Amino acid sequence: MTPTSVRENLQQIQERIAGAAVRAGRKAGEITLIAVSKTHPASAIREAYEAGIRHFGENRVQEWEGKRAGTDGLAATWHLIGHLQSNKAARAARLFHSIDSVDDFAIAQRLDRTRADAGTIGKLRVLIEVRVAPEETKSGVEIDELSALAERIVDLPQLGLAGLMCIPPFLEKAEQVRPYFRRLRGLREDVAKKLGVTLPVLSMGMSHDFEVAIEEGATEVRVGTAIFGTREAK
Ligand SMILES: *Cc1c(COP(=O)(O)O)cnc(C)c1O
Repeated sequence: MTPTSVRENLQQIQERIAGAAVRAGRKAGEITLIAVSKTHPASAIREAYEAGIRHFGENRVQEWEGKRAGTDGLAATWHLIGHLQSNKAARAARLFHSIDSVDDFAIAQRLDRTRADAGTIGKLRVLIEVRVAPEETKSGVEIDELSALAERIVDLPQLGLAGLMCIPPFLEKAEQVRPYFRRLRGLREDVAKKLGVTLPVLSMGMSHDFEVAIEEGATEVRVGTAIFGTREAK
């Protein structure tokens, strides 16, 4: 991608975000665009940064370790959005501002302990990833285990549970994904009420379905392909 096309793509996406927000009676400013830069080089991250993006999502700890030197000096918020293995949790807790894909208490505990040992200031933001489509996806906590997990995470002093995240199945028509987004929003409300906490964040929606996600209440959308172009198959 040339810098101009990243910029143009971003402009179009921002317009589509604004359009979806209006349809839902929301303000575009309530929605954070996370540029998913996995598989793309640091130079692509810089292009998006120069075009105004301040949130980036990576899905692998190791890949990010290799790339981050190339993004030195960028005042951005770095999100881990991919499934986290427990042997990488300590590294992730030091490298990212937010772990958007927590689905296991042992991993949450490791994140919490690492932050305590590192003496970092402020809590590490986390989201719980929910398995909204058990038949299609592997990662995420089961719906009936969600509130128990949230209850335990809320008690970890170094973590700040901000909300929920999901990866619905890829369905040809984005409209078909709507029930999954609606479900995540309902779960967020249930858990917040049950635990007596506020969970402001709903991270849902990707390149082909972010508008539907916004209509259903997404506060963060994770968009890769529509910004940076298609990723090379591994
Ligand atoms: C890759 C990825 C995205 C972005 O997907 P696109 O279809 O390229 O927009 C969003 N969320 C997660 C968790 C991902 O792994």
